[in-house]
Amino acid sequence: MVFNNHSGSNQPNPSPNQPDDQKSNFRWVGGGFLILAAGFLLFSVASSSLQSGDRESVPYSRFLEQVEADQVKEATVAPNRIRYELKGNQAEAGSESAQTFETVPIQNDQSLTELLRQHDVEFSAVPPQDGGWGGVLSWVLLPLLFFGLWSFILRRGQGGAGGAGILGVGKSKARLYSEGDTKVTFDDVAGVDEAKTELQEVVDFLKNSDKYTRLGAKIPKGVLLVGPPGTGKTLLAKAVAGEASVPFLSISGSEFIEMFVGVGASRVRDLFEQAKKQAPCIVFIDELDALGKSRGSQSPFAGGGMSEQEQTLNQLLNEMDGFDANTGVILLGATNRPEVLDPALQRPGRFDRQVVVDRPDKIGRKAILEVHLPAIALADDVDVAKLAAQTPGFSGADLANLVNEAALLAARRNGDEVTMADFSEAIERVIAGLEKKSRVLSEKERTTVAHHETGHAIVGSLMPGAGKVEKISIVPRGVGALGYTLQLPEEDKFLVGEDELRGRIAILLAGRSAEEVMFGRISTGAGDDIQKATEMAERFVTVYGMSHKLGPIAYDKRQQQFIEGMGNTRRAVSPQVMEAIDREVKEIVDSGHRVALAILEHNRPVLEEMAQKLLEAEVLDGETLAAELDKVDPPAHLSEWLMGKGEVPDHEAAQRYSLEQVFHHS
Ligand code: ADP
Ligand code: MG
Ligand code: ZN
Repeated sequence: MVFNNHSGSNQPNPSPNQPDDQKSNFRWVGGGFLILAAGFLLFSVASSSLQSGDRESVPYSRFLEQVEADQVKEATVAPNRIRYELKGNQAEAGSESAQTFETVPIQNDQSLTELLRQHDVEFSAVPPQDGGWGGVLSWVLLPLLFFGLWSFILRRGQGGAGGAGILGVGKSKARLYSEGDTKVTFDDVAGVDEAKTELQEVVDFLKNSDKYTRLGAKIPKGVLLVGPPGTGKTLLAKAVAGEASVPFLSISGSEFIEMFVGVGASRVRDLFEQAKKQAPCIVFIDELDALGKSRGSQSPFAGGGMSEQEQTLNQLLNEMDGFDANTGVILLGATNRPEVLDPALQRPGRFDRQVVVDRPDKIGRKAILEVHLPAIALADDVDVAKLAAQTPGFSGADLANLVNEAALLAARRNGDEVTMADFSEAIERVIAGLEKKSRVLSEKERTTVAHHETGHAIVGSLMPGAGKVEKISIVPRGVGALGYTLQLPEEDKFLVGEDELRGRIAILLAGRSAEEVMFGRISTGAGDDIQKATEMAERFVTVYGMSHKLGPIAYDKRQQQFIEGMGNTRRAVSPQVMEAIDREVKEIVDSGHRVALAILEHNRPVLEEMAQKLLEAEVLDGETLAAELDKVDPPAHLSEWLMGKGEVPDHEAAQRYSLEQVFHHS
């Protein structure tokens, strides 16, 4: 998606980037032009009204009549008007005091010349451009006006600290928040304890920088806050500045991108200048993706050459490399789309640290509500834990909004206190809004996700070398994931055994298998799992040569591809071998699927119980999770199955998919 439609690199470019020293000069001239232009305009309006003051316009038909009656003495014909004089006595005889008349001719009246000649009118023509002030106006004045206006805007953009210019072109709009302004501390941010712990370190860098520099350590320059909108990234950044008692400078990535090329880059320069003066300080760049979007992935409308966004990004990278790590300036960036960021931004010495700020779980939501509730007058019946339970998928901002909504509802019914009933209604309202953004799951969807993730966890706990299942969660994470299972390997692995690889494929398919075992239907939620499982099975056969049937042949030429460029990565093989590879890949995925189904069928009561607990708590980890997974029992021949031996019991869910349907398609 290209969302950066304000980047304006496709706008006409009225002026190339002005170097700073020329800019002020240019601005002065622009101001002069403005005055001059206004003068011209006034003068021309006045003079044209003077000229036309004593002339009477008449209908064209009357003019023709007068010509035919031989009353016209002479005429000046222009394409869009005819001025003429009547013969002396006629003018005096007429009641009009005017001597010259004016009329608007019918366009292209070819017969007019002929007519005038027949009646002995002395006539002449004027060139189409009527030579009056209109010409000056359109050719000289309008551009002058434009430049004047532009320079005016430029100057307004400079307008002091507030930077309240019309377009604000020019200087950086980084607003300065002194500590007195924000007063935000870590106590104001709840439910994101991991992020707080990591940022505590940044606070320490700012507060006790000597401690680190004394030992020659380099203080990190950039920390990237990654998380969905409304989870408190901006709030956290302010809190870091508040905790460290340093100034907080903030600017949004989208503010860098303006209509005029080169402005963004000069803003970046200004921002860093300001920051260095204020050090130690925090510079917060919100919506970093608006400016740091990968240079390859830009709008197709961006014309040739370097786009505005690219220039700005390059300037940012330069500035980040240019300042000494220990000057005390720490950059915090925020984005909800880390995947579109230019990789150059995340290299060492730039935004090389990432802090994930995720949506809160139930306990986190309770903590966030407790931050916001003291601001309103609460009735005794309000149960915070219950509110937290009723708001799955809400972000911090949604919860703050909920509290305010409830207070508004109470005020509307002229209540003295905000009651639980107000909250219930407010929850419905907020959810209705969120559903439009498809961020709140229905009860059925949550149940599906809970069983899916439990399936991963149960199968994962039995597989060799897969590590410990640390956490399962049905708190929506990031943009796509509805839930997740976190399984960490116990040690770094460089070699993976056949059984482990088959085991990983089974783990990947376990989410979908759980849906099949429990509900007999499948959902799109397993798409990513299937993608990964299939790729793994393909490598199993074509790269690692682990297939019992096809043996150690490198069917995949991916290693050579760097030299040969794009194209089919498969070695040239006969159609029979091609088909055999496809069958083998499918057989490996299928057998993983059958293993997962067998395990889950065998442990069905645990699956049901765990999923129920997960629905309740939203997150299972630590001892609760370990206790549940202890109940999981491996089926009899599991280790044989994982070596590709023995018959994995067929499950009707797996029977549905037969390769014969694919190959012997009738
Ligand atoms: P983001 O920058 O991640 O989009 P913000 O920091 O702007 O989110 O959050 C908007 C508002 O929502 C905050 O000002 C605060 O009132 C509330 N909020 C968000 N997250 C939290 C949180 N973790 N704890 C307390 N309040 C929060
Ligand atoms: Mg924000
Ligand atoms: Zn899954």
